[in-house]
Amino acid sequence: MAKKSNKHCNIPIFIPQQACPHQCIYCNQRYISGQHTIPGKQEVKQTIDKYLSTAEEDTDIQVAFFGGTFTALGIEEQLSYLKTVKPYIDSKRIRSVRLSTRPDYINTEILDMLKQYNVTDIELGAQSLDDGVLQYSQRGHTVRDVTEASNLITAYGFNLGLQMMIGLPQDTLQKSIHTAQTIVSLKAVCTRIYPTLVIERTPLAALYRQGQYQPLSIEQAVHWTKEIYKIFVKENVNVLRVGLHPSEDLLNGKGYIAGPFHPSFFELVLTELWKEKFTALPADTQLIKVNPADINYAVGYCSSNLKYLKTVNKNIKILQDATVDRNNFVCL
Ligand code: SF4
Repeated sequence: MAKKSNKHCNIPIFIPQQACPHQCIYCNQRYISGQHTIPGKQEVKQTIDKYLSTAEEDTDIQVAFFGGTFTALGIEEQLSYLKTVKPYIDSKRIRSVRLSTRPDYINTEILDMLKQYNVTDIELGAQSLDDGVLQYSQRGHTVRDVTEASNLITAYGFNLGLQMMIGLPQDTLQKSIHTAQTIVSLKAVCTRIYPTLVIERTPLAALYRQGQYQPLSIEQAVHWTKEIYKIFVKENVNVLRVGLHPSEDLLNGKGYIAGPFHPSFFELVLTELWKEKFTALPADTQLIKVNPADINYAVGYCSSNLKYLKTVNKNIKILQDATVDRNNFVCL
């Protein structure tokens, strides 16, 4: 296996909804991934070659099959994708494969096959760990399915990822916090947090138009995500993404109808997190020092935290200092 370096790169291959036999009420993968057709073997190869042509030699590279439900594809199709990647792994240009799928498409036969083709990371769309929310969203699986699949994945030695959504119909902040805590207890090493959006041509769009579903506001979504994010950071679960990838279609407003979509959503969440940290500042604080990697979030989206601090002390400054630990600050 190729040696792991500090630099990491995913080569994303999107498998849109055509691969998935389900219809969750919020899902139209065509719009969410910004891609409308399922990639062929040649296209996968071209994508990999393009990324490799610019990647530095010692980069730790994974091919990532995202978007749809990889293990719900026909076995021949799964094998075709995995066999396309295999020569790159054999030649050590790529370390391994990661993929996303549903919890009810995991079993020992599937895991045996994935192991054989150097899949190391499996992300499951858990979305919620509340049976009522799952049922209303027509996920077609239960909390028990998520638990059993997660336990099997970790028992096989794969890295487990569990993705969650907030603001689905019947969801509450308490239920979302419970979902995050359960993701931790299932030993996920990574997660993604997706606020629910109302996308064109989905059952949720019909509910929204009939007045039967109200999405979270941006402010609510930021607040919920901040509370959940704190749980994951505390428990060392790597948060790989917050909010949807701002695909072209969503940015053009083509498929988007309503809900907390913001191109800088993660920045808004971290701005709130830092604002919360600053509430305990001594009133006579003149200077705050933070790690350079945190400076944008400490200052806040559109400098909102700095502006807020200046209402207390108009001369206050926030400066970068590499000696300060990440997520911490020193005040003088
Ligand atoms: S399982 Fe995933 S891809 Fe399939 S409909 Fe639901 S959200 Fe979409």
